[in-house]
Amino acid sequence: MHVLVSGGAGYIGSHTVVQLVAAGHAVTVVDSFANAKPSVIARLNILTGEPIDVRSFDLTDRDKTEHLFAHEHFDAVIHFAGFKAVGESVEKPLEYYENNLESTFSLVRAMRRHGVRRLVFSSSATVYGADAEVPMKEDAPTSATNPYGWTKVMVEQVLRDVGAADPTWRIALLRYFNPVGAHSSGLVGEDPSDIPNNLMPFLAQVAVGRREKLSIYGGDYPTPDGTGVRDYIHVEDLAAGHIAALEKLASADEPVSTWNLGTGRGTSVLEMLHAFERAVGHDLPHEIVDRRPGDIAQSYADPTKAETELGWKATRTIDDMCVDTWRWQSTNPDGYP
Ligand code: UDP
Repeated sequence: MHVLVSGGAGYIGSHTVVQLVAAGHAVTVVDSFANAKPSVIARLNILTGEPIDVRSFDLTDRDKTEHLFAHEHFDAVIHFAGFKAVGESVEKPLEYYENNLESTFSLVRAMRRHGVRRLVFSSSATVYGADAEVPMKEDAPTSATNPYGWTKVMVEQVLRDVGAADPTWRIALLRYFNPVGAHSSGLVGEDPSDIPNNLMPFLAQVAVGRREKLSIYGGDYPTPDGTGVRDYIHVEDLAAGHIAALEKLASADEPVSTWNLGTGRGTSVLEMLHAFERAVGHDLPHEIVDRRPGDIAQSYADPTKAETELGWKATRTIDDMCVDTWRWQSTNPDGYP
């Protein structure tokens, strides 16, 4: 298949590009490089053994998006591109709604015009909202607690309506739990452009000496050790989930399918800290501080639906995630050049 990967220079996109090429697919990346460094492409060229076809523009530009589809034939699209910082989305809601919705409208319009009806969308477990029961199942109601999360809820709804109006579409809504880890080569990984909001990149920057200590947000949650529990999934397992979903769409009965991509196992902040300390080989400075507003006590997937329908299962352990993150961060202390 010729697959267009939007946001293919980003964290999850880049790992998926490597696996798509390994699976024999032709790949075109479209990325605005608003949140990714161009040097990731050189790393992808090394890992795939071929020069990746990259188009550098913003999907919100409808003319450029239309032009791309008019000149290339794609069999499917994996749509990763989007703003993703929760805190920033609270400060800049309009920018988040505009960017994440308009890029999708532009993309889906061009796909429809050119007869491309197979789409894999990066959704998030954040669509389960603040009051969801664990383990989270795909048929739970959706909501959100911040503008970033609402853009995911809204795009999911748009795509369900597109599929209802024209049942020849085959759309996968993939709800990611907490992606962490890096490619086993250490050549690609997560490279936040600002101070990391997420636990794993923050821990990695503490370990490499870029941050003084980890602040653990809350030690009084109703969890076994009082710290927040999440379902961390290795980015390589997550990338494999995209390939499985893409291939499944060819034989899917329904126009729109929703799959959780998680491990089904919850890990606390303290457990993750200790696993990272094992990977690094020494203790890391940390302190327990107040809860972070908007955080929930625990989140983990029921991954049964993806296992049954996609024949896909996350296999990598928390220690694998920490070892691979540390290999990436220690060999690239300042991220991509
Ligand atoms: N967390 C923390 N310190 C940090 C970042 C995160 O204690 O510097 C905690 C956070 O409260 C949550 C877990 O780590 O319990 C995962 O947070 P992250 O932001 O990575 O993911 P999300 O909360 O969006 O699931």
